[in-house]
Amino acid sequence: IKGIKKYFPVKNTIGVTKKYVKAVDDVTFHLYEGETYGLVGESGCGKSTLGRTILRLTDPTDGEVFFGGTDIFKLSNSEFRKQRQNLQMVFQDPYSSLNPRKRIGDSIAEPMVIHNIGTSQERMERVFDILEKVGLHADTYYRFPHEFSGGQRQRIGLARALVVNPKLVICDEPVSALDVSIQSQIINLLEDLQEEFGLTYLFVAHDLSVVRHISDRIGVMYLGKMVEEAETDELFANPLHPYTKALLSSIPHPNPKIKQEKIILKGEIPSPINPPSGCNFHTRCPLATDICKQAVPKRVEKRPGHFVACHLIE
Ligand code: SF4
Ligand code: MG
Repeated sequence: IKGIKKYFPVKNTIGVTKKYVKAVDDVTFHLYEGETYGLVGESGCGKSTLGRTILRLTDPTDGEVFFGGTDIFKLSNSEFRKQRQNLQMVFQDPYSSLNPRKRIGDSIAEPMVIHNIGTSQERMERVFDILEKVGLHADTYYRFPHEFSGGQRQRIGLARALVVNPKLVICDEPVSALDVSIQSQIINLLEDLQEEFGLTYLFVAHDLSVVRHISDRIGVMYLGKMVEEAETDELFANPLHPYTKALLSSIPHPNPKIKQEKIILKGEIPSPINPPSGCNFHTRCPLATDICKQAVPKRVEKRPGHFVACHLIE
């Protein structure tokens, strides 16, 4: 995933575009087959937009996404449709993606209909099969979305994504709307399904403890930029970027006897319309110097697999 940009035009009162919301601004990283990559940052940092852009659910402004050697941004719509099967998305609120008047079985089967997979008999068998895999009773097939709890709906959302046998699943805050006890059930299910189907996850979330639990590697985003990336244990043990340090300081230490200092950042996240110059974190960074206002810091590999973009580290 290379140099991804997603800018939304902002029209002024007479309908002329002069400004852009830089929701995702030049993000580069690798996703390895079979891993879970956690994408974290405060709401509005662009992590969901990045996920949606990678799947072409929204048109990219710039960048390249190589999947199995092919740049999927360069494919025509019909060529991409064939790839789409491999790239699925699970949303925070699966209810909104389920047709309230359709039986669950038909909603789950829908992606197979779209991709022209199997006969209707085969599709039905596949749906029963996948319902079992996600821990739902077979009679779920004949019922309707409103009959299910949040956790069950998320299982239905997973079934719908997995029914076409994808390789990459982008999970956008899949447990954020659920009770804590249900959250861990869904997380465990995601892990089981990953193992069984050899899935790769891009896991978007703002809850660091959930991300820490599930992710092999983590990328930290701030205001449309990826500021740091490392293996999960490395990131938690040795955060380098001032923003990551502040973010991590906000979660309680597992050992309550160990007191850790909470780093409070001044001010709010600036608007992504006209973000701050240079390092866009400089308005809130406790360590900012003059150069930070002028130059965009480069992404450097400080330790093997540990990338950071900060002048102080460079
Ligand atoms: Fe802070 Fe400067 Fe590093 Fe940005 S580049 S995080 S402002 S020290
Ligand atoms: Mg989001």
